[in-house]
Amino acid sequence: MTIIGLTGPTGAGKSTIAALLAREGFLVLDGDRIAREAMQPGSPLLPRLAEAFGGDILLPDGNLDRRLLARRAFASEETTALLNALTHPEIERRMFDEIAAHPDCPAAVIDAAALIESGISQKCDLLAVVLAPQEVRLARILARDGISPEDAETRMRAQHPDSFYTDKADVVLLNDGAHMPETEIRKITERLHT
Ligand code: ADP
Repeated sequence: MTIIGLTGPTGAGKSTIAALLAREGFLVLDGDRIAREAMQPGSPLLPRLAEAFGGDILLPDGNLDRRLLARRAFASEETTALLNALTHPEIERRMFDEIAAHPDCPAAVIDAAALIESGISQKCDLLAVVLAPQEVRLARILARDGISPEDAETRMRAQHPDSFYTDKADVVLLNDGAHMPETEIRKITERLHT
């Protein structure tokens, strides 16, 4: 099975491209969904997070108090790194378990925003990056997320420059409005056939 990593800055169109690839028959794994599932009661991650960030991050019903965890984990660079060090391996394990559960599928796509940062991209056979100009991404996240222009700008500023992605990408898909996403995904399918 060929594993394709799909990443890029927010609003570039990862989910849009992933949906088209799913229609083409690829097994598509949504990184956000898998990250959410990894934080559900019963996950081995929860006791590890409680040990690192305090038992009170677990609510009496066993659910995670996400706001309290976020407040503690994003308090400093060190605690953010600790959160990532705990969560990324569990998310990665779940992704590869799901892929292994579909042995007949010729190719899987992992759609995740922090694919490169988590190191998961190194386990992919092909890294595809979706890019769009900053002003296009800004307009899209404003329309999609219903946030204020100030919050959207803050989110945009937290993104890596395009070169962070293009330096590592095997394939770059331009989803800028001028290039049709349906055509851009051919860059992936063509690579699989060469
Ligand atoms: P990402 O997953 O990279 O954050 P999305 O796929 O959610 O980005 O796209 C952001 C928003 O822009 C969504 O509302 C999506 O419907 C819209 N969008 C994406 N690509 C296009 C496009 N080529 N033309 C018009 N709208 C688009």
